[in-house]
Amino acid sequence: MRKINSEGKCYYCNKTYAANGMGRHLSAHFKKAEKEKPAKKKSYHIKVAGGNLYFLHMLIHGDARLGQLDAYLRGIWLECCGHMSAFEVKGAKKSVNDWFAEPEEFGLSMEIKIGDLFKKGLKLEYEYDFGSTTKLEISVMNEYFITDKNKILLLSRNEPLHILCELCKKKPAQVMCVVCYGGATMFCNSCKGIHAKKCDDFADYAETNVVNSPRMGVCGYDGGRIDVQRDGVWQSE
Ligand SMILES: [Zn+2]
Ligand SMILES: [Zn+2]
Ligand SMILES: [Zn+2]
Ligand SMILES: [Zn+2]
Repeated sequence: MRKINSEGKCYYCNKTYAANGMGRHLSAHFKKAEKEKPAKKKSYHIKVAGGNLYFLHMLIHGDARLGQLDAYLRGIWLECCGHMSAFEVKGAKKSVNDWFAEPEEFGLSMEIKIGDLFKKGLKLEYEYDFGSTTKLEISVMNEYFITDKNKILLLSRNEPLHILCELCKKKPAQVMCVVCYGGATMFCNSCKGIHAKKCDDFADYAETNVVNSPRMGVCGYDGGRIDVQRDGVWQSE
């Protein structure tokens, strides 16, 4: 299969960088901003990864709470029908009490202040929906004495991935079939009729839009409410 690349644009200078170079690039902006106009309070540069291709870089204020980050992740990538979610420090051992906890008590309290928990190098795991789970990994890249008027500022996000229609292999995939697997499941609008002819479910309910999220195709997820202009299908020209 053709390898798909992941890249994003920098919020500050609008230049495009590959996924693995974006963190380093942003740190140059932060260091400059901290030097020129140091703030009294800290903000944290975090990277959120959904698999190898989907990423978000954010600046989050130390006064923000985990619940606000949860709401942001739901808004940009995840929310389908109000499932439960949880943050956990990566590698944290489950305590005996966790076995007796109610599902809504899993994970860290959403009331925790970012500044009381986050530090450079910390990794968290996040889960949305404990049935058809979407798992994300959050890395605290660094901390700086800078603040923005927004408690959470989106700095970069992977641009829509260059996924091709699996039938004609020429046009961008616009829709996918959520029940088929093993064969072609992603189609452009010209080819989707070919799949509809042999897949009754597709015609009935299983056709869903290609969106820029690690939850694409899961539980009727149909796109986010934040940064929607980058949530669609890539444009080939
Ligand atoms: Zn930049
Ligand atoms: Zn759902
Ligand atoms: Zn096609
Ligand atoms: Zn199908």
